[in-house]
Amino acid sequence: MENVVVIGSGPAGLTAALYAGRANLEPLVITGSQVGGQISITNDVENYPGFPEGTTGPELVELMKAQTEKFGARFEVDEVIEVDFSSGSEAGRPLGIKTHGNEFEAKSVIVTTGASPTKLEVPGEEEFIGRGVSYCATCDGFFFRGKDVVVVGGGDSAMEEGIFLTKFAESVRIIHRRDELRAGPTLANRAKNNEKISFVWDTVVKAIVGDGAVEAVEIENVKTGDTDTLDTDGVFIYIGHYPNSEIFEGVLEMDDHGYLITDDAKRTSARGVFAAGEIDDPIYRQIATSVGEGCKAAMQVGRFLEESKHEDAPKQKSLASW
Ligand code: NAP
Repeated sequence: MENVVVIGSGPAGLTAALYAGRANLEPLVITGSQVGGQISITNDVENYPGFPEGTTGPELVELMKAQTEKFGARFEVDEVIEVDFSSGSEAGRPLGIKTHGNEFEAKSVIVTTGASPTKLEVPGEEEFIGRGVSYCATCDGFFFRGKDVVVVGGGDSAMEEGIFLTKFAESVRIIHRRDELRAGPTLANRAKNNEKISFVWDTVVKAIVGDGAVEAVEIENVKTGDTDTLDTDGVFIYIGHYPNSEIFEGVLEMDDHGYLITDDAKRTSARGVFAAGEIDDPIYRQIATSVGEGCKAAMQVGRFLEESKHEDAPKQKSLASW
């Protein structure tokens, strides 16, 4: 019986494990397919405090992981494929977690499975991630000082990040597949009134091309079918994010977009199950905010386990029904 299983190994998960480890809870972290989550594919991190010269995503993951291990966290490199939190409504019975290779029972769980940016799924996108293709203007905008960039998308994120990019870039072209923005009027008007921003309407990106780094996007007008090539140094893709919450459907309460619903104490709708990081945060999505939320969740788990000691001792539950 585990004291606490952390599902996910991004900044929220690693911080939750650090705090749980320091509380002598010997947390088990089930990492998911990519240890470190989204930051492991982020080349440069310059907005995380404590690194005046900046760092790289993989380096930050290694440092966080090492610090977490130092305090007793254990790592299972696997993906969770099923959970049974049905006992959560009942005091003293374990929560069930099943991975491809193993099954675990736990007194508490912290869900930190994060979110993933929706991909365009066009040729060149994967190839140029970190070399001109980005899903995070806050992280990467600085590297495009004086350059020309395009933003793909017509929602609030595309407007907000496009406006942010004008602090650095010489020009920002927003490519949108319709002739009307999805973004609300406030951000839409701010973008339209920004002299560095121009719009390419009714247009989709068909491919991202370059030699070692992004040099251009191949585009197509969806109304006329005309194709063109736009030279650009960067492609910022903002066509939405999706929370990695599929395995919790029907198990934990979530909003219409699939983000888990938590209270101020980071509790989900199932007793003993907490959540932190982007899985319950559609707004901030920063390493710094995820770290803070992971810390909160682990501290609340400590309190929960302390309170649970006064209830019935956990009873074994058969996982044979899975
Ligand atoms: P969103 O509102 O879902 O907008 C996604 C945009 O990407 C839409 O314009 C959509 O086009 C376009 N898109 C989707 N799939 C595409 C594809 N395959 N190819 C090309 N374009 C595609 O997502 P979001 O902008 O990330 O916003 C998410 C939520 O957060 C929204 O509720 C938003 O209001 C909120 N938000 C608020 C703020 C703020 O208020 N400061 C800032 C950021 C986000 P269509 O319009 O044609 O569907």
